[in-house]
Amino acid sequence: MATTGRDYYEILGVSRSATEAEIKRAFRRLARELHPDVSEEPDAEERFREAVAAYEVLSKTETRGLYDRFGHAGLQSGGFHPTAFDFGSLADIFSAFFGEDAFGVAARPRRGRGADVAAEIAIELEEAATGIKREVPVQVARACDECEGSGVEPGTTAATCDDCHGSGRIERVSRTSLGEFVRSQTCARCGGAGRIIDHPCSGCEGAGRVLDERSLEIEIPPGIHDGQRIRLSGEGHAGPVGGQSGDLYVLVRIRPHERLVREGDDVFSTVALTMTQAALGTKAMVATLEGEVELEFDPGTQPGELRVLRGRGMPVLQGFGRGDHRVLVNVTVPHQITDEQRTLLGDFERLSTEKTYRSDESFFEKLKSAFR
Ligand SMILES: [Zn+2]
Ligand SMILES: [Zn+2]
Repeated sequence: MATTGRDYYEILGVSRSATEAEIKRAFRRLARELHPDVSEEPDAEERFREAVAAYEVLSKTETRGLYDRFGHAGLQSGGFHPTAFDFGSLADIFSAFFGEDAFGVAARPRRGRGADVAAEIAIELEEAATGIKREVPVQVARACDECEGSGVEPGTTAATCDDCHGSGRIERVSRTSLGEFVRSQTCARCGGAGRIIDHPCSGCEGAGRVLDERSLEIEIPPGIHDGQRIRLSGEGHAGPVGGQSGDLYVLVRIRPHERLVREGDDVFSTVALTMTQAALGTKAMVATLEGEVELEFDPGTQPGELRVLRGRGMPVLQGFGRGDHRVLVNVTVPHQITDEQRTLLGDFERLSTEKTYRSDESFFEKLKSAFR
């Protein structure tokens, strides 16, 4: 599970000052080494995806600049999401990224990868602050028990495809003035499976998969942001006929809070003091992520004043420390008063001098600093 990954430079194995050409070379080398079509390593797919994401970011000046300055968080707030893709053959990947064909890397007969599954959950802001485990119901295709995902009726066997002789791919050679070009395509007859099923499994009608209702426990890390996705590798749909499973993506939504507003890692709230409380000084309760806390306000507290509770905001996702909690003071003015109150306020006004009020900083300036 990863919402923000490893350092992109580290993934590609290049220095922070690497040139475009070096980055391209590093990715090309990794792609040839890690692509699921050629690598047998169990974590090759995960590492390949990381490499693609890293290359996508570092190969473009704009996203590389964002990443250099603000890291993964900068990319997220900049609205950048790495391409979600299914693996094509190595050739597809290379033509997508480099506009050219792969260089003679022989692809194994490839079985389709299962589709990714998307789910969505909504949590409270306090839950996002502490992190939480949640059960998420998902409907995913899994390998059929009866045929163990082969799609073949038990007791029968599948025949090798005559067109591709079991490789799942057909090579076409074209001769041009520049030389011979070999293009490999998925076999149309067997759909790349390399075999033909004459007796499909009755449990799954030859698909090798059945639908399954499951409940998965998702661990939501402290500090997660609204709209982030958590990936559970291999928890998506099973691939056709024993192919690799897709991933499960859980979109996390954070419900709006009644009294708290989140801004990045900071939390923001307001407190209302009456005109007389603000003038005379008072104690007041303010809402924070950990419940109400009492704050003391000095005599002469002004509207727009900001109280910063350091380290009382949201935890930094996959990092250290917490943001701040900022409390903005509002001062309420009576709008319905008795005759006696009117007399008192009239007296008060008469007794006021230039010194009674101060105007060192405008309310607007304070508001701006509250929102930074
Ligand atoms: Zn079956
Ligand atoms: Zn075939």
